Formats: sequence, structure tokens, C-alpha cells
Amino acid sequence: MTRTICLLLIAAAAWAQPRYDLLLKGGHVIDAKNHVSAVLDVAVSGGRIAVVAANIPAGNARRTIDVSDLYVTPGLVDMHVHVFAGSMNREYLGEDCVRPDGFTFRSGVTTVVDAGSSGWRNFGEFRDEIINKSKTRVFAMLNIVGSGMGGRMDVEQNTKDMDPERTAEVARRNSDVVVGIKIAHYAGPEWIAVDRAVEAGRLAHIPVMVDFATFRPERPFQDLVLKHLRPGDIYTHAYLSVVPMLDPQGRLLPYLFDARKRGVIFDVGHGGGSFSWKQAIPAVKQGFVPDSISTDLHVDSMNAGMKNMLNVMSKFINMGMNLDDVVACSTWHPAREIHHEELGHLTVSAPADIAVLRLVHGDFGFVDSARLRMKGDRKLVAEMTIRNGHIVWDLNGMSSEDWDHATR
Ligand SMILES: [Zn+2]
Repeated sequence: MTRTICLLLIAAAAWAQPRYDLLLKGGHVIDAKNHVSAVLDVAVSGGRIAVVAANIPAGNARRTIDVSDLYVTPGLVDMHVHVFAGSMNREYLGEDCVRPDGFTFRSGVTTVVDAGSSGWRNFGEFRDEIINKSKTRVFAMLNIVGSGMGGRMDVEQNTKDMDPERTAEVARRNSDVVVGIKIAHYAGPEWIAVDRAVEAGRLAHIPVMVDFATFRPERPFQDLVLKHLRPGDIYTHAYLSVVPMLDPQGRLLPYLFDARKRGVIFDVGHGGGSFSWKQAIPAVKQGFVPDSISTDLHVDSMNAGMKNMLNVMSKFINMGMNLDDVVACSTWHPAREIHHEELGHLTVSAPADIAVLRLVHGDFGFVDSARLRMKGDRKLVAEMTIRNGHIVWDLNGMSSEDWDHATR
């Protein structure tokens, strides 16, 4: 009898304990992987997604936040940034890179991929100083140049420092965080830089991301995406002004769809100089939307037309892409492209990386790399960002008590 009472008391205590740490109530959940776009509640427990369902009682959670009228999405994945900041690479790279945590959470971003700022020679430093010390989840693509983008621009022209074996070896040893190989800024007429990057990617079983730099007749862009890149490899800077995209009548060139059919991925990589309205607007109108949206975040791009991830996403909304597709291109698609399918969705037991976004209506202007403006009437703003179940950004203090009713 006593034993039964004890069990009943334990059961009652367990019943009284809130089951969830955090409950986001009444938001419009967009989760491309799970084909969800509906008003649902999201509960978080132990840093993971606990349940996504309608009408979860507030009493089940230690803290409940009303997010009605807002969008709840997986934490954004920005797969092209430059975050190898610090004193180690002052000349060109160090001063143009930013530290991730200062720029990610305020834009709803919880995961970034550094696109080739480091190479096999200095990746250890990048890992110790940035990857291991950031709250943002930071992955890396290794530059095929051993010194990465470190030092002067001519470092990236040094074909003698493009070693597929050593690059692949460092990638394999750090396979928990190295997700690809990057080739960038190569100006020479040969294919050597691209082909060595692809060779490193083949040896390490990871994709290659290409910034094609100087477009030259000796190595046509069409051959890059139709012959040299493998399915799953990524061309970033999709709407760069010099990409052969439209015929003289403004119609999309059919080879772009052939390249996509081969499995080559087209990523935005907006950057300071790599996004043109004259390319993007007709391309999107004719159905050539990006596979993934990324910023190419660095000091120059963030202070020019790029600004941040949400501004780039807003550009595509105002060009006519629907919000669900824009969110898919900024969450699940990039997670899949970097072979990290545990991210970019809100499946039960997935890491609780979440963005709570507001779609603001008004008169806005969006600027491209030629400093031309497109007017728009919608803009995404990050109200709240959650990383591993912790609130790391809260624009309007939705998770805080009002000061005049505070219990402390
Ligand atoms: Zn870049």
C-alpha cells in the first residue's frame, strides 16, 4: 500500500514538471524538409526539437512565447561567408572577414560555411581561433590554395600551392567541420585551379564550390558547369553580371537548365560585386531560381547592397519567389548541399536551431552590386534566434518580463 502511494506521489511530481523548456506558440512554421507550412506550435527540450503540433498547452512548458503573426523556420544556413577574422591574416583577408557571432544571430542565421578563407596550411588556426570559439555553428570549405585567401590577392594565383592530396588529407582529418573545397579569384587562362579543386573534392568525398573569378574565352563558363564540375558541386555567384545567362532577346540560355539537370548547384553568393538585377530579375522570372541563397558575408558586402542574409532573402521575395521557397533555399537546401542533413529542418530530435521572422510590409529599396535599386514592399526581420535551445537574439524582448511587472 505504502509503495503504491509513493509511486503515485512520484507520478504526480513528474506530472507537475513542465515537459518542455520552451514553447513557441501560434507561429506559421515553414519546414521544407517535412513539407510543413502551417500555423503550429514548436516545443523545445534539452536543446532539441521536442514536438511540432497544433495547440500544445502552455502549461507543458517552463517558458511560453507568443509568436503569432510571425514565421518560425529552421535556423538559417548561410553557406558562403568569410569569418577567418583576427590578427593572423591582416593584409587582405583578416581585415575583410568578420567574426561570426557578431553578424549571424541578428539575421536569424545559426550555421555558416566559411568559403575558402583558409587552406590546408592555416586551417588549424582557423579551427582553434574561430570554429571552436564561436557560438554560431561554423563549417569550412578549404581553399585549394594551401595558404587560403590569407595574405595578398596574388597568393590565390600560385598554382604551385594547389595540392589536392594535402588539401584532401586535412579535409578528411577534420571531416566533422570541413564540408567542401573552394576555388576563388583565379585569373589564369587554364583549368588547373578548378581541376585541382575537383580532384581534392573527389579524394575527400566532398563538394567543390567555385568562384570563377575572371571569365576568359580560354575557359568558357559553359564548360565549367557542363564538363568540369561534378553533380553536387556548387557554382556560387549565380547572378554575377558576366555569367552568360540571357540571349540578346533576354531569354534564358538553355545550357543553364542542362547544367542543373546534371546536378550542378547554383548558389547566390551575393557578395560585394556578384549580384546584378539585370541578371537576377529576368532569370527568376523565367524560372531560373537559385538552389541556395547565401551572402558572401564580409566587411565590404555587408556595408554595401548585400547587408545580411535576410536582406538577400527579401530580394528574392520581392522578385516574386514565394516565402516557402525562399526559406527552403536558406535552410534545408544548403544543409543538403553541404551533406549535413541533420540541419535545416524542425524534425523531432533535430538540434533546436530556430529563427522567428517577421515579414514587414512597407516601402523598401534593395541595391545590387552596380548600386542599382529595385523597390520592394516586403522585408524579413529577425525577431528571435534560438541556437541549441538557447535564445541568442531577441529583437523586441519577447522573452523578457515587462520592467514594471517584474518579479525580480
Ligand atoms: Zn566569397
